[in-house]
Amino acid sequence: MNKPLITTLIVFLIAPAWAKQPVATGYGGAVATISDPASKAAMRILDAGGNAIDASVAAAAALGVTDPFSCGIGGGGFMLIYSAKDKKIISIDSRETAPAYFNPQIYQKEGKDMEWNDVVPSGISVGVPGTVRGWHEALTRYGSMNMAQVLQPAIQIAESGFKVDANFYRINKVNEAKFARFSSSSALYLKDGKALELGTHFRNPDLAATYRALGKGGVKAFYEGALARQIMQAVNQPPVQPGVSVLTGQMSLADLKDYEARLRQPIHSTYRGLDLYGMAMPSSGGIAVAEALNILEGFDLKSMPREQVEHLYIEAVKLAFADRNAYVADGEYTDVPKTGLLSKIYAAERAKLIDMKQSHGKASEGDPFLFQDNQHRPLPAKVSLITEPAHTTHLTVSDKEGNIVAYTFTIEDWGGSGIVVPGKGFLLNNEMTDFNFKGPHPNVPEAGKRPRSSMSPTLAFKNGKPVFSIGSPGGSTIITTVLQTIVNHVDLGMPLGDALAAPRLSQRNGDKTQVETLLKFVGSPQAKALEQFGHQWSETDQIGAANGLQFNSDGSTTAVSEPLRHGGGSAIVQRPQ
Ligand code: GLU
Repeated sequence: MNKPLITTLIVFLIAPAWAKQPVATGYGGAVATISDPASKAAMRILDAGGNAIDASVAAAAALGVTDPFSCGIGGGGFMLIYSAKDKKIISIDSRETAPAYFNPQIYQKEGKDMEWNDVVPSGISVGVPGTVRGWHEALTRYGSMNMAQVLQPAIQIAESGFKVDANFYRINKVNEAKFARFSSSSALYLKDGKALELGTHFRNPDLAATYRALGKGGVKAFYEGALARQIMQAVNQPPVQPGVSVLTGQMSLADLKDYEARLRQPIHSTYRGLDLYGMAMPSSGGIAVAEALNILEGFDLKSMPREQVEHLYIEAVKLAFADRNAYVADGEYTDVPKTGLLSKIYAAERAKLIDMKQSHGKASEGDPFLFQDNQHRPLPAKVSLITEPAHTTHLTVSDKEGNIVAYTFTIEDWGGSGIVVPGKGFLLNNEMTDFNFKGPHPNVPEAGKRPRSSMSPTLAFKNGKPVFSIGSPGGSTIITTVLQTIVNHVDLGMPLGDALAAPRLSQRNGDKTQVETLLKFVGSPQAKALEQFGHQWSETDQIGAANGLQFNSDGSTTAVSEPLRHGGGSAIVQRPQ
């Protein structure tokens, strides 16, 4: 036999042991991320004795290298932790904050909204990054390793590099024009003004050096001193190419130094005997998912055919989105009627608006204040949904002690603001464009405020025992992806891996429901069955790239990731079954 053939055969025979796979079941720790090197980074930390918190930061740091257009230390996110020892769910909010110069008119020019495309690739879209402070809080309070230890696998990936694959290329290509505006970003991600070719060996030694500096200097090495000054300068005098001019920010060193991650009480709700925990404001995710599930709980979904269940899911989420759009924003700045929005009585009232046989048009917001403290207040002015494209990343890790992490983090748009901090190897976020550009609205920009998010890391328990974790990227489609995966799993009885892989129906109180060309939904029997209810489709290539863990009754864990979306994810367990 010739040598290449033998090699091929060997690879084929041993492949199942190490090849990237979307579903894995076993014992000990488990991880699911959208990137194989990131899942392996988490596993390396678990194998070295780290816990789920250590491993989640290791995976996140690796994702900052392999998925730099979706996430990184230039952005922010939300982490849910289940501490098995304390039997407690903790949520860490490391969402970006608006610098002190922000005000409600910041995105207004001559009485009109500024163009989103002018604001994003500029200094005024950048919020104070929260990710490093979030990692610090997670590690120092709940981890067992230090920053230097958990960043080690990511440093190695950044130094040794990897081949540009189809997914990296696809997203880099979308960003070509944005990166071309900035010299630092062009130098890192473009060659002669074009996205790096497929198969190019990509290394990021600058990011490796930045991670090393964080390992050595800790959180202060990011928020104070030389790096803080360089971040501030990149925001206030973006490193534009000759002839390019962009809007400039006015971030101060105090904005960076004063940044705090917040430990918040998670949103708790129940659904068919499960206790669900999600992210509180400034994310709208926990509340919107809970409200939609509360509405659905009034229907006996288990006894219904799939199309009837999906019809109700679409209608319920419209109602939840109408409320989310009207009322949810940073709870430190605005009076969010959280109790009313989470009330089962309120949900039962909202459910009465659903027609079992016919899709209703767009929903209006209800009056959750009546279910809050019996005080009626004026409704906020109606505003249309701002554009929220589909990016970000979600990862989840568990360990042998039973700790679990569900962590969604982002730099907002693909490629964020497009500004790489010169010589530092990471992109700055454009999270401030998650504010509504115009008021009056609870989500208008304000100094120190955090823009409303949709990120929805979710943990489910039954009788105090973990049942599953789930989360996704995708802007406001995050809410529908998480919700639909829960309905698929809990009501339609699909194993979590199938629930996550199924075609997505994203209805966010628009005219049409968004579906995926990747899964060839339009024209399928499932689509036709739903069209009987009057549903109409708009197509996009793919929605979300979710990751989850299912905790099985025999004590094993099934890690689940995407078989197709975002190039396919990677699920790994410590001791395969
Ligand atoms: N900025 C979005 C949010 O916080 C996440 C970005 C995305 O997934 O597109 O909800």
